[in-house]
Amino acid sequence: MSDNMIRPIVLYKPYGNNDVLTHYIDEKDYSDSQKRHEVHEILESNRIHYNGLGLAANQIGLEERAFNIDGSTYFNPNVVEYNRDSVDAYSEGCLSFLSIKASIYRPHEITVNYTNLEGEVVNKTLEGLDAVAFQHELDHLNGITMADNIKSKIQRKKFMEKYKKSFNKLK
Ligand SMILES: [Zn+2]
Repeated sequence: MSDNMIRPIVLYKPYGNNDVLTHYIDEKDYSDSQKRHEVHEILESNRIHYNGLGLAANQIGLEERAFNIDGSTYFNPNVVEYNRDSVDAYSEGCLSFLSIKASIYRPHEITVNYTNLEGEVVNKTLEGLDAVAFQHELDHLNGITMADNIKSKIQRKKFMEKYKKSFNKLK
């Protein structure tokens, strides 16, 4: 891994076009090992560089249906089952929103499938933060942003005001 793989984070634009972050990324063919490893190296090096728990491909402008969480890259990920009784709040942060936190409700127990770096299709149950992070990153690939997931209108407004302040300071 090297620094020349580092790409800018696509930030949510409060007043502009957010197409990169808000369109659905279609399933891709990841049968080629070299392709999987290339995508993994880029996602992993950028995730570490930006100090995120997770990073989805479109957050660095890549049209790939893949994300990396804590060193593992998940290709063509899906949630196949939600335990609706496990819904709970977690304080989430997102690199595309300058890591400003907000409380988001999600199932904390889900069953997922995906292709791993070795090219195997994996089926497993995730719990707690593992389940939260998987859903957060999968939302990115489906074009859903963190702001979309704040169900309380008041909380969403507060979050966006806080984010706009930080975003405006960047210029
Ligand atoms: Zn995010």
